[in-house]
Formats: sequence, structure tokens, C-alpha cells
Amino acid sequence: MKPPRFEYFAPKTLDEALALLAAHGDRAKILAGGQSLIPLLNFRLAHPEVLIDINGITSLAYIRPADSRLAIGALTRQHAAERSDVVAARAAIVGEACRFIGHLPIRHRGTIGGNLAHADPASELPAAMVALEAEFTVASARGSRTLGAEQFFLGPLSTAIQPGEMLTEIRVPALPARTASAFVEMARRAGDYALVGVAALVTLDGSGRCQRARVALCGVGATPVRARAAEDVLIGQTPTGAALDEAAVRAASSTNPPSDVHGSADFRRRLARHFTREAIETAARRAGGN
Ligand SMILES: Cc1cc2nc3c(=O)[nH]c(=O)nc-3n(C[C@H](O)[C@H](O)[C@H](O)COP(=O)(O)OP(=O)(O)OC[C@H]3O[C@@H](n4cnc5c(N)ncnc54)[C@H](O)[C@@H]3O)c2cc1C
Repeated sequence: MKPPRFEYFAPKTLDEALALLAAHGDRAKILAGGQSLIPLLNFRLAHPEVLIDINGITSLAYIRPADSRLAIGALTRQHAAERSDVVAARAAIVGEACRFIGHLPIRHRGTIGGNLAHADPASELPAAMVALEAEFTVASARGSRTLGAEQFFLGPLSTAIQPGEMLTEIRVPALPARTASAFVEMARRAGDYALVGVAALVTLDGSGRCQRARVALCGVGATPVRARAAEDVLIGQTPTGAALDEAAVRAASSTNPPSDVHGSADFRRRLARHFTREAIETAARRAGGN
């Protein structure tokens, strides 16, 4: 199928893009990597009257330290994040989650901002951003505002971005010393969206006990799901054996997964339990220097 008719703009600056968004409101859609939007247009599942192609706004493609945080421009390609030493040093889970997105050519075009704005509940990066407690900057012609990752995702393919706004930057807070992370998932085929994916960050104290934990899952609800009950049970524990089992059970029971042709809700809950255990165990092992 061919896409429906649309008016096309290719601004070169953020101000131009924001002025176009202000003029066209909810009739307009941003075109970033096009890896989700173009199929939606071709299948006639989206009918924007106006496309604002942001690929010429090169100032939105960057990865850089910002104070103690990591700043990622919305137009940064997923592959650039996957290969970045700065990302590896400051938020390795972003690179690890990106590697699960589709295939290499998709990640060469697909952007970090486009992936997050698309908000697929089975998408890996949103769960990683929730676990990292990242902040998202959303801009419009009127100014900008900052949202926490958990506030940003409202439902399947739905975010807190309002008509006239666009996502411009993602900021990841500095992680405490002796923190490591892991992202694990199961997908039906390599490159598919996750059936269930788990992002875990673990901080160990000097004696190997868990000082801080962050766990978030994808594929198990309408949005990424933060498993606070699993995090809490780990605090003060050596992350092995019974503590891991209990965290995994708690994470699985904080989910409300869908049933579909790919798997029942019960199957997904069992995957959530298994992969939560594996993600926490891997992150803890890495935090311990192994
Ligand atoms: C075969 C295939 C397999 C894939 N597998 C996976 C996978 O396993 N996991 C996964 O997570 N993704 C997967 N994807 C999707 C991929 O990650 C996309 O790159 C991503 O979802 C959208 O990013 P994009 O830059 O291509 O955005 P686009 O397709 O250009 O845009 C997607 C949506 O976000 C909006 N948007 C884009 N940028 C902004 C912005 N800065 N501000 C506001 N709104 C914006 C658009 O208007 C549109 O609604 C797959 C895609 C394909 C084709």
C-alpha cells in the first residue's frame, strides 16, 4: 500500500520544527527514522495531514555528558547509542537494550527519540529508561518541560507529548558507584519485539549486599512496568538464591500481561519471573566485578 496524501516539511532547525508544530497541531506528525511511522502510513493506520521530517536538524543528534548526567538528543540513531563509549560508561543498559531492537539496518535509521515517542509496550528502550529513572525534555513553541520516564508513557503507543510538542532530549542521572545493569529478554525470533524483557540495575555495598535496585519490564502491560516490590525485597540482601527467587516472584506479580497469539498472560508471567531473576543476577555479578 502507499501512504495517504500528506504535506511534507523538512525544517533545518528546532525553532522551525516547533513553529511548524504550533501551526499544524494534531494534524502533524514528526518523521524521525521512519521505521515505525512509515509502515503505519503504508498500512493506512495513521493519517497525518502534515509530516515534519526532523532528519535535517542535526543539532538534535548527540550523546554527551551534561553535569553528572548523560544527555542524548532525540535524533540520535539507536546504533550510535549502541556503539557509544560515553553511553557504555554512564548508562550501559541503553546500549544493551538497543541491541535487541530489530536488526542493524533498522537501528541505523531508527532514533532513540522515535523509539520512545512510539511507546510500544513491548519495546526494550522504554523499560531501560524507566529503570534508569531518565528524564525526557519535551519542547513546544511555548517553551519546554521535563517529564520522568514513568510519567511519559501513558499506554500502548501513547505518551504525555501533547499536540504542538516534540521530544528533544533524554537525560539519564548518574549511577551510584558499584552499580551495574543487565537487559535480558525473550522474543519469538531474533530482532522481534520482546515477548517479555527485563531491565535491572543493582548497586552493591562493600560487603556484596544490595544497596539499591531498579527493575523494569516490557511486554507485560500497557506501559513499561516498574517492579518496586522486587526492588524493595533486595535491599540489604546478598542478591543470590532465595532473595533472587523472591524478587522474581514479586516482579511477576506486579505485571498484568496481555494474552495473544504469541503467548498467554500466564506464560508471560512465567517469563517475567524467569528473566527478572536472570537480569538481577547478571547485574549483581557485573556490579561485583565478575
Ligand atoms: C522490522 C522491524 C523490527 C523492529 N523491532 C523492534 C524491536 O524489537 N524493538 C523496538 O523497540 N523497536 C523495534 N522496531 C521499531 C524501531 O525501534 C523504530 O525505530 C522505532 O520504534 C521508531 O523510531 P523512528 O526513529 O524510526 O521513529 P519514526 O518511525 O519516525 O516515528 C515513530 C513515532 O514517533 C513519533 N516521533 C518520532 N520522533 C519524535 C520526536 N522527537 N518527538 C515526538 N514524536 C516523535 C512519530 O511521529 C511517530 O508517531 C522495529 C522496526 C522494524 C521495521
